[in-house]
Amino acid sequence: MVAAGPAQQILVHCSNAVAAARAPALFVASDFCRRPGFGRHHPLSIPRVSAVLELCASLGWIDGRCMRTSRVATVEELARHHDPDYIEALRTSDAAGRVELEVRTRHGFGNLENPLFPGVFERAATAVGGSILAAELALEGRVAFHPAGGTHHGRRDRASGFCYFNDPVFAIGRLLEGGMSRVLYVDLDAHHGDGVQEAFLDEPRVRVVSIHEQGRWPHSGTADDVGHGYACNLPVPAGFNDSELGYLLDSVVLPLAAAFAPGAVVVTCGTDALAGDPLSGLALSNVALWDAVGRVVGDTGPAVVLGGGGYNPWTLARCWTGLWGRLRGLEIPEELPGEAQQILRSLECDLVEDEDVADAWLRTLADVSRAGTVRDEVKSLARQWRVLHGMA
Ligand SMILES: [Zn+2]
Repeated sequence: MVAAGPAQQILVHCSNAVAAARAPALFVASDFCRRPGFGRHHPLSIPRVSAVLELCASLGWIDGRCMRTSRVATVEELARHHDPDYIEALRTSDAAGRVELEVRTRHGFGNLENPLFPGVFERAATAVGGSILAAELALEGRVAFHPAGGTHHGRRDRASGFCYFNDPVFAIGRLLEGGMSRVLYVDLDAHHGDGVQEAFLDEPRVRVVSIHEQGRWPHSGTADDVGHGYACNLPVPAGFNDSELGYLLDSVVLPLAAAFAPGAVVVTCGTDALAGDPLSGLALSNVALWDAVGRVVGDTGPAVVLGGGGYNPWTLARCWTGLWGRLRGLEIPEELPGEAQQILRSLECDLVEDEDVADAWLRTLADVSRAGTVRDEVKSLARQWRVLHGMA
């Protein structure tokens, strides 16, 4: 590990300041994280949490003491949010290895987007179980990192956007059930957190904030969409940079968090908002995402930090590994050791051309800053938010 430069020392200082307030963060995972899913040729067939676990192990950043194992959510637990007919349809279709046409039409799985693959039910139910466990750890005052979670598009009675169940909904629900009077949900994935917003439309104890790319699927979450008054949507233009994310944090997200004063926060930190993701056009550095998570978590107490989308295995593995390092208050190395570089070199992805694999993606964890101009479109989102909330 290379000695930290001034920038790293500042980062370490900040993350230690956050970590010092509570017991060390915990990593929630399961055996499913190490197994491929979704079949071949699906954007989620790439190594994701498995690569993060390997990288963390190669850095000596993870061991049995900081790991907790997800359990499988029961059918009764799943039915607290999902339609029993949908749960049963996914369970029986998985067991049978086939989906009836009527079920496919009604419940949105068994297609290219949300394929039926062996073990899909248990895998999806384990993501829910992991997020419930992460919420229980947060109820003990911890920060729980569950990168296999973040399936924010799952709907009550149908699969959507590669998501079968909606684990963030269960994390929030468990925090409320455990006595939290207010929970803030911040969604940093490149796509609108539609399933979470829908689940808590009429719940004044939950604020749902989503920063996502304007004009992208699922095309919901426009700036004037406040749900039933408890949602905040910030659709940002392509090329969204680090300075613009910092601006929206300073001018909308952190003031909103301060006013709401939540007992806990749930963050979905998909990596598809990073530069180089094949399914979005945003251009953040991973350091900007780590800072964003650190600021939201640092300001609001116990937290559940979930994964989400992310379709470039290099940027994903580096981002979530570094995020874990930051949550634990560890020093981010300037250059990765050989074993870690080898893990990154072994990754493959059909959606990213070989010539587009940046050298830095194979040698480092932290991106260089992608600061830039804060464009008028981004400033107007903050103005519009103030108007909508009578703060203009
Ligand atoms: Zn996404």
